[in-house]
Amino acid sequence: MNNMYQEFNEKFQIKKCVTSIINGEPTLISKNEDIIPVISPINEIHISDLQQSSNSEVDQAVSAAREAFDNGPWPRMSVDERKKVMLQIRDILKENAEELAFLECINAGLTMEYIKSMHVIRAGWNFEFFSEVASQASGESYTQTKPYLSIVTREPIGVGALIGPWNAPLALCSMKIASCIAFGNTCVLKPSEYTPLSLHKVVELIHKTDIPKGVVNLVNGNGKITGDALVKHPGVDVVSFTGGTSTGAIIAGRANEGLKPVALELGGKSANIITNSANLDRAMDGTILGIYSNNGQQCLAGSRILVQEDIANEFIDKFIERSKKIRVGDPMVKSTEIGPVCHEEHMNRVLSYCDIAKNEGAELLTGGERDSLHEKGFYLKPTAYMAKSNESRICQEEIFGPFASFLTFKEIDEAIHIANSSSFGLVGYIWSDNLPTVMKASQNIRAGTIWVNTPMTRN
Ligand code: NAD
Repeated sequence: MNNMYQEFNEKFQIKKCVTSIINGEPTLISKNEDIIPVISPINEIHISDLQQSSNSEVDQAVSAAREAFDNGPWPRMSVDERKKVMLQIRDILKENAEELAFLECINAGLTMEYIKSMHVIRAGWNFEFFSEVASQASGESYTQTKPYLSIVTREPIGVGALIGPWNAPLALCSMKIASCIAFGNTCVLKPSEYTPLSLHKVVELIHKTDIPKGVVNLVNGNGKITGDALVKHPGVDVVSFTGGTSTGAIIAGRANEGLKPVALELGGKSANIITNSANLDRAMDGTILGIYSNNGQQCLAGSRILVQEDIANEFIDKFIERSKKIRVGDPMVKSTEIGPVCHEEHMNRVLSYCDIAKNEGAELLTGGERDSLHEKGFYLKPTAYMAKSNESRICQEEIFGPFASFLTFKEIDEAIHIANSSSFGLVGYIWSDNLPTVMKASQNIRAGTIWVNTPMTRN
């Protein structure tokens, strides 16, 4: 471990055992509970233990949220009163930004610089943003059927089960908590079992504000055990899930059994289309960011890179040159651009796609292996392949690592067809200074968001 780690660890001290937090209180560490080791992807050191919440703990957490919703002050407060607390949460997260960034870095392997400049800021801002949204939300009235007046009012739904992934725990789970509680709901959060540290701290900090007990509760553990117990609990009214597509299908089924509404944010295999009418320097920056930022672990990644034939050789050569220069290493070091992937199983899964690519006859452009400069830790070289076709597995399956699959196209219609030939539809990117091309692509690519000449703007 480097000096920076020692310094941070002395200053903040990682919890030896992470437990649930119910009604604002951490649950006791019990010898009988299941323990999941928390391993740092930076150096494979066992940094903490996670006490998996039992069914009875999940039940206690849901009961706490239920009581806070059914009988507590939170849903009955004015929007302004709730907003005051939401802004206290924003402030306390900001005040503890360094510790939160450290915990996220050591646990998820994201670079400190990236977390400090993006994720921690976003976490605080989520509480401000959703308190503003709630303060502007209004109902509707209908006057068509005279002499009756029908009024539709917005009411909180109840207890939310919030389940998050490991790739951006702070940014994504803070969004879930904030959007849930801003409207007067209460919740139980279950973060990924791989990355519990920063969110345990967030829930601790939330309880240093004036938030009533039971509004925000935390349980921890494996998805199939703790997550499943939470989703199917009859005291839960709504489920919000961010994670893998196949997990989303299971959770939707479970929620459906209890007729609970469910919000799903799932995976992607998004097309990043670079045309010959693009500003190629900007397109190159955006393409590099689109595939490698967040250590390559982004649902929004532009992981199928489609380049117009007449500019393909030049663009791809430059991409390879840039990829080779990317500094992979310890995410606590300021100059590092890509840290390790989050956990060993995931690293092996990403590496398995190098074998798949080889078997499919794809051409290795760069990387394709573990970064051997590091004896320990889950470091991968930025990787790119020229795929044989869009039907190949490296173009159809979400790999979720620093792994790009290139294809070429002749005309924009072909690029749109390739973009749409996917079972995913999260986002798409189009790089062109030609308005008809931009309009055609953005109107015809079937994805939730299309970015034109920019990557990843989400505000
Ligand atoms: P995952 O689906 O394996 O796990 C996500 C969460 O679900 C974890 O907390 C896990 O414990 C829990 N879980 C797993 N099985 C469960 C079950 N049966 N019941 C209840 N909970 C269960 O996903 P991951 O590997 O943590 O995250 C990576 C995936 O998340 C990628 O596919 C990525 O694209 C997606 N993602 C999507 C978005 C988005 O906004 N669209 C954002 C980030 C990540």
